[in-house]
Amino acid sequence: MQVSWDSLHADIAACEKCGLCRRIHHKVPGQGSGNADLMFIGEGPGADEDMQGLAFVGAAGQLLTKMIAAMGQTREQVYICNVVKCRPPQNRVPTPEEAAACLPYLRAQVALVRPKVIVLLGATAARAVLGDQVRITRDRGQWVEKKGVWFMPTYHPAALLRDETKKRDAWHDLQAVRDKLKEGNAGASAAPDPQAQ
Ligand code: SF4
Repeated sequence: MQVSWDSLHADIAACEKCGLCRRIHHKVPGQGSGNADLMFIGEGPGADEDMQGLAFVGAAGQLLTKMIAAMGQTREQVYICNVVKCRPPQNRVPTPEEAAACLPYLRAQVALVRPKVIVLLGATAARAVLGDQVRITRDRGQWVEKKGVWFMPTYHPAALLRDETKKRDAWHDLQAVRDKLKEGNAGASAAPDPQAQ
């Protein structure tokens, strides 16, 4: 049975399934349109996100906002979340165990939103959804289709802030996403299992 947004948010708020919740200010479930055609999945909350309880509101989030605008959309039209809903200490990469513990919430979010296209921002999101074999520098820009939903791995905005030479490739990837949405051939709205092979 599909969960509701209210029960999902309540479950995340109460969750203590991994140790990441011990030193946070806020859980960061994600936000945006609950029936968006386009969904972005990042790695995990940073300091700004932890303080505000909102995904992608720091410097990387501001860049993501510009990227979404360049695609002709607004943040309110898309859904934005992360693999883990609690900030890892010192912004370290979540462990595979932490990502696995949090994955059911991501699955529920995908099932509720039923997006046509999902952009996977960075290696952590791409591996959590598509599998450990993903290498973001090798596999970015290549569509993966599962159960009628199209996945596009690309660089995380934080990586673009660290290395501006990656921006050209990232924009290429997002143009492909924009075109896929315009084509209207992004597939049916069947809800995918993020780890289904
Ligand atoms: S990161 Fe996810 S699984 Fe871990 S405590 Fe937070 S909500 Fe629960």
